[in-house]
Order: sequence, then C-alpha cells, then structure tokens
Amino acid sequence: MIVLESEIAAQTTVSVSTRDGRIVYISATAYGTPQPNLTDTLTRIISDIGSRLDYWQLYGDKFRLQVLSELSKYGYKVENVEVAVSYRCPNCGAAIELNPEAIIYVCKYCGWSGDIFGKNLKIYVWPTLPRQSVEQLVKRFTGGAKIVEADLKYVPYWIFKASITVNYAAKVVYKVKRGKKYVRREANVGEKFEKEIVYPLVARLNAEFYGDLEMQGNVEYNFRKKPPKEVTSEEARSIAPYVLSPEISRDEAKEIIVDELEDVGLNIAKDRAKSRFSNVESVHVYYYEPEIRVSDPILVMAPYWFIIYKSKGGIYSGAFSGIDGDLLKLEVPITPVERLVRLLGAWLVAALTGLGVEFFLNTSSSGKESIVIAVIGLGSALALTKSAFSEAKVRR
Ligand SMILES: [Zn+2]
Repeated sequence: MIVLESEIAAQTTVSVSTRDGRIVYISATAYGTPQPNLTDTLTRIISDIGSRLDYWQLYGDKFRLQVLSELSKYGYKVENVEVAVSYRCPNCGAAIELNPEAIIYVCKYCGWSGDIFGKNLKIYVWPTLPRQSVEQLVKRFTGGAKIVEADLKYVPYWIFKASITVNYAAKVVYKVKRGKKYVRREANVGEKFEKEIVYPLVARLNAEFYGDLEMQGNVEYNFRKKPPKEVTSEEARSIAPYVLSPEISRDEAKEIIVDELEDVGLNIAKDRAKSRFSNVESVHVYYYEPEIRVSDPILVMAPYWFIIYKSKGGIYSGAFSGIDGDLLKLEVPITPVERLVRLLGAWLVAALTGLGVEFFLNTSSSGKESIVIAVIGLGSALALTKSAFSEAKVRR
C-alpha cells in the first residue's frame, strides 16, 4: 500500500473571543487538494463556530467535525482538518502558549499581565538575587560544591492581610511536680483573642514544591520587612519567562483562604492554651468560633531558586529564596561517620528489642506487650538502617 502524504489545502489563523470569554487564536489546517476560496471559507467558518463554543470545546473532536461538515455544505471536499489553540495577548497580539490550568499570565513579548479573559491585573514582585550570588551561597553551604543547575522560578502568591478573632474553650492536660513525683492535672481554658496576620497562598493547583513551607514563611517575613513593588511592563517582560502562571483566581483564593485561616486560628488557640501551663501533655479545643476578615489580596511573584549540585560523586538538590538568599532546604551528603553511627544505632535498637521481647514473654501472660515492642523496635531498626544507606540528609 502506498501512503501519500496529505497536501495542505488551506491554512488560517483566526482571533476569536470564545463563548466563555477567553481571548484566543485558533489555527486551522485543512488537508486535501487546494480549492478556490477555500482559505476564506475556512477562516469564516472557524471564526463563526469558534466564537459560539466554550474554550474547552475547541479541543474536542466535535469542533473539528462541525468544521468539516460546514465545509462540505459549501461544496468543499477536504480529507481532514487540524486545529490548534493558543491565547492572544490583548495588548500586543502575540500568541501565548499556556498550560491548560493557567488562568493568569505575564506576556513575555510586551510585559502585559492579566487573565485569560483579557482583563488587566496588577502584579507585584521582588527582584531576585543574581545567579552569581546564588552560586556563591551554594558554595558556602556545601563547602565549594560544583553547581550542575540553578533554575529560577517566580512563584505566584496571593497575599492576604487578615484579621482573625477567635472565641475558644479548651481542656489542657498537664503535669505538676508533687514531691518527687509528677501528677497529672486538667484545666479548662477559654478566651477571646484577635490577631492580625499576613498570609501568602500559593496561586497554583499543585502547591507542593521543594521547600514550599519554608518559602511560604520567607515570603510572609519579607512582605513585612521589605514589601514587593508593583512591576513596570519592562520589568514584567524580563521576568515573564520564569513566571509560573497562576492557576487560582482571586475569587477562588478568597474562598480557599477562609478555610486555611480557620486552621491557622485553631493552631493559634491551641498554642495560647498550651502556653499557660508547663509540662503540657495534650490540648483539646472543644469549642471554637472563629471570625475571619480578609483584605483583597494582591498577586506577588516571589523569586525561588532550585539548584542541583555535585558532591562526593552524588547529585543533590537545594532551594534558596531569591528575595533575600535564605537557604530554604538543602540535601547534603551523608558522611561515612554518620553512616556508621546510624548502623550502630540500628544494631542497638534491634538488640534492645530482643531483650524487651524476652522480658515480657517471661513475665506477662498475654504476650501482647512483646508483640508491640517487637513491631516498634524492628520498625525503628529498619528505618535507621535505611537512613544509613540513603543518599542525602536534608538540612534547613
Ligand atoms: Zn503582549
């Protein structure tokens, strides 16, 4: 069988506003033999059908089939139609390729920032430390290791200023010294407090990355210490290639933040209840009524460096804040001495577990304790052995 390569019959790119309001380019290629006025007709059909569909439908077969059937109504015969969709910068008209979840972007051609519906949005940014400074930091923390890769990303955060008012009641269990012994006591605590906080919420659907919690703390700290500045389009254009496009809108962020701050308020309540006593064993909050007020958040791009370095034949990773050069997280090689200590630890735990099991088997009738000891002991021994052979340990 001979397969003939399909000939391009017509090609067009149309600017469309979809039914759900997204500003896009639709490119269409028709395969077959060229026919008179086919390009014009294809352009009209794409523009017509495209603006009557939602963004997601443009990717489906339905759209393609509709285009084909419309073409045949006009008497055109084509073998196939292929469709590609991209966003269109409302400022400069450039075609923008985004991952499907992105809903806000910075145009790398003109520096315009806004959402996929063409609405302009102010963004704030911290300038990043230059690459050389980051490389020096890595050298300092690793004792002169060789950097394999240093990757800059601007992580988007919706930053909220919030006020939390909490009414709570809790039961605190604590210990007091009576003579030579400790005695367990219980107390009920209740109060109302108010706290002003700054909370950075990662504007990405998958918010996990290496050193994410540390970065959140770093952003919160720097927001108070040296607030980020609103970017000019010139600056926006220069950072655009490194920006992780936000996937959470302002409204979505406002919904998520209330839940998150309720958790934050609960933790503050627990800490406050705990701080009233010493030797606290447990805190149980049985009444909790938070009242949360949040400001309109601003969108901030925070520079984050992910680095990979080589040391002693291994490859390790690390993360630094580009705002102030803070070390967020770093994998460091495990030394032979540390390996030995962990192996000895594992051996010791295993030996003690054996003794414990024997002891309970001799003294207790049920043998339940010995099973518990065996499970815990062997588990710890295994964890220690494993860590002795792991590649790296993490340092913060
Ligand atoms: Zn642009």
